[in-house]
Amino acid sequence: MKHTIEHLKASLLAGAVGDALGWPIEFKNHEYITQKYGPLGLTDLIPNHANIAEITDDTQMTLFTMEGIFNYLYSSRFASLAEAVHHSYLRWYKTQISKYVSTSTIDFDLMSYPQLFHQRSPGTTCMSALRSGVMGTVEKPINDSKGCGGVMRAAPVGYFFDRDEAFDHGCSVAAITHGHPLGYLSSGALAYVMSLIFNGEEIENSVVLTINKLKSFSTADVLVSLLQQALSLSVSDLGDVQCIKQLGQGWVAEEALAIAVFCSLRYPGDLQKALSVSVNHDGDSDSTGSITGNILGAYLGMGSIHEEWLNILEVTEIVIDFCNFVEHHDKS
Ligand SMILES: [Mg+2]
Repeated sequence: MKHTIEHLKASLLAGAVGDALGWPIEFKNHEYITQKYGPLGLTDLIPNHANIAEITDDTQMTLFTMEGIFNYLYSSRFASLAEAVHHSYLRWYKTQISKYVSTSTIDFDLMSYPQLFHQRSPGTTCMSALRSGVMGTVEKPINDSKGCGGVMRAAPVGYFFDRDEAFDHGCSVAAITHGHPLGYLSSGALAYVMSLIFNGEEIENSVVLTINKLKSFSTADVLVSLLQQALSLSVSDLGDVQCIKQLGQGWVAEEALAIAVFCSLRYPGDLQKALSVSVNHDGDSDSTGSITGNILGAYLGMGSIHEEWLNILEVTEIVIDFCNFVEHHDKS
C-alpha cells in the first residue's frame, strides 16, 4: 500500500528528532558520551535555554531539498529537478550567511521561518560548493567529496519519485555539491530505499533491492559491501556500538547510510531506541540520527513520534505547514 503524506511528515519529523538528538554529541566520542550521559548515552532530546530542541544543517537542507522538488513539480520555472534544488540550496546558503528578514507571503515559504536562520556546523563542502555559484552534476563533478552532506538531505526524493527515477534524482541532488561517486550514489541509494518504504515495502527487502540496484555501478562496490554488512550485523550477537564501529563513523556518505540502515533494521519497531543507538558513537551523530529518523519515520508513521518531542522540536511547525501545503497542491 502506498503511504500517505502523513508518512512523509513522520519521515521529516523523525529525521529532525534524530538530528536534534545527535547535535549535542556530533563531535564527541563514545567514551566521552557514556561518561557524561551514562552507559546508554544520550537517549532523549536536550532542549536549549528556550526549551527548544535545535536541529542542524541536515534537517534544514532536507527541507530545502523538498522545496526544490516542489518547485520543479508544480511550476515551470526549472528545466530540471537538479536546477530547482540547486536554486533552493542557494536559498538555504542565504540562511547561513545572512540575518532573517521578515517577509509577508501568502504561500508557504521556508524563508519566512526565522528558526531556519541558524548556523549549526554546516558542512564545509556544501558551503564552498554553493558559494562557487557552479552547480555540480554527475557528469561534471564539482569536487571529489564523498562527505555525508549529500546523502543526509535526500530522503524526500523517495516520496515524490519511484524507484529508478528516485535513484537518479537522489544522485543528481547530491552531486550538486558532492562529486565523488560514493557521495552521490549513497544519496541515490537512500532515495531508492525511501521510495520503496513509502510504497509500503519492508525495510529489509528495500535494502536488498537497493543493493541489487547498486550492483550495476562499479563505483558502488564499497557502498554495496557496507550495506551487506549492515544487513548481517543487524541480526548478529554483537553489541550495537561494536556493530557501528565496524561500519565506520558516518562522516562519509556510504558509512552514514550504512549506519542508518543498520539502526533501522536492528530496531524497526522502536524509533527512540533506533535513534539513540544511531547517535551514540564516535562519529557524525546528527547525520546518522537524521537519516535513521527519515527511514524509520517513513516506515512507522506519526504514531512513533513522541508528543513531548514534537512540543520542543524546532521545526515541528515548519514540517506540518509544509506537508499541509504539499497535500493541498497534490489534491488541486
Ligand atoms: Mg548537521
